[in-house]
Amino acid sequence: MRTCLSAILLAALACDGGTSPSPPAYVFVSPTTRLLVEAGTTFRFEARVTDARGSTISGAEVAWSVADPSVATIDATGQATAAATGRTEVRAAAGDVSGTAALEVYIPASVAEYVPGRTYFGRNQYVEYIAGDLPLVVSAGHGGGEEPAEIPRRTYGTLGRDSWTQETTRAVRDSIVAYFGGGQPHVVISRLRRTRLDPNREIVEAAQGSEFAEQAWREYHRFIAIARERVAEDHGHGLYVDLHGHSHPTPRVELGYLLTGSDLSRSDTQLNAPRFPEQSSIRSLARRVDLSFADIVRGSESLGALLFGERVTTVPSPLIPDPDGEPFFSGGYSTRRHGSLDGGVIDGVQIELHGPGIRDTDRNRRRFAGALARALRSFLETHYGFAWD
Ligand SMILES: [Zn+2]
Repeated sequence: MRTCLSAILLAALACDGGTSPSPPAYVFVSPTTRLLVEAGTTFRFEARVTDARGSTISGAEVAWSVADPSVATIDATGQATAAATGRTEVRAAAGDVSGTAALEVYIPASVAEYVPGRTYFGRNQYVEYIAGDLPLVVSAGHGGGEEPAEIPRRTYGTLGRDSWTQETTRAVRDSIVAYFGGGQPHVVISRLRRTRLDPNREIVEAAQGSEFAEQAWREYHRFIAIARERVAEDHGHGLYVDLHGHSHPTPRVELGYLLTGSDLSRSDTQLNAPRFPEQSSIRSLARRVDLSFADIVRGSESLGALLFGERVTTVPSPLIPDPDGEPFFSGGYSTRRHGSLDGGVIDGVQIELHGPGIRDTDRNRRRFAGALARALRSFLETHYGFAWD
């Protein structure tokens, strides 16, 4: 017994002295999962080799391989190169032991032309794009319900879902087809629950480090960008509508042109100062039409007035020119990015819907969808020079 223990002790001492290295016992590959998008994208995996006690064996030789080289290849340094859509396993072997990581390659299908009325999906169908041909783009970023295990729960920011806004958006689409002479709006929907992705934030807060959520975020904004380009090409200008649901105490629709409640509390004369249209998501419209900015925002032909005409209480509008100190959503990341604030010919408005009577039942969603479609049609005909049968 004593001899045996001494031998082990001696072996350990020898190891600590570095004269006789311990054999590799574990290999850890990092990261443990990786998504590569686009063929030819490269990424270098790292391997850490340890002995049985968990001490890193520096300079240990590692042999890299992939299970399916048709998906991705890997070189002697651990650098993988994406080849085709699929999943494979990356393996790093040291002596008799090895460690693995999951590698996914996703190469979006190349689309020569988006056909109006046809649906296109991003990876795992987290993001849906129904292509259109009208000068109208509608998005819904907060109505999704999917909570895939591969995307961790977001830990900060707003997590509450805008319930029924995905269904409302689909009803709005149906009504637009009905009221725009059969034309189709472009529609972009995030099907992920807001606990997994908030596409109405910049990518860091939106995806919170999940590469799968980041991919969905990119797809969401890319589809909107594709739709905007199509609208600009086909029609010269148009409107982007970002649909949301709010739970503010006063049940009314809120229109966000990037003007805050305090901006809107100013008089019409003050609101007509150049800085307000310049900071708004309808900057292109304000430059183009022969109306004062206050008239565009809350005059008799404003979107708020047209919605009131459909018996939908709306702020800002001639009757409710400003939120009067109550909570109000002035427009978020998507309206900022995809409206005409930074140029371009597509204006933007964030439309925040209350629940009761609007999105709470199928009947109410359909009724509201008809009202919004008619109001949008009048708005586009009045200010954008379009006409539909
Ligand atoms: Zn929202």
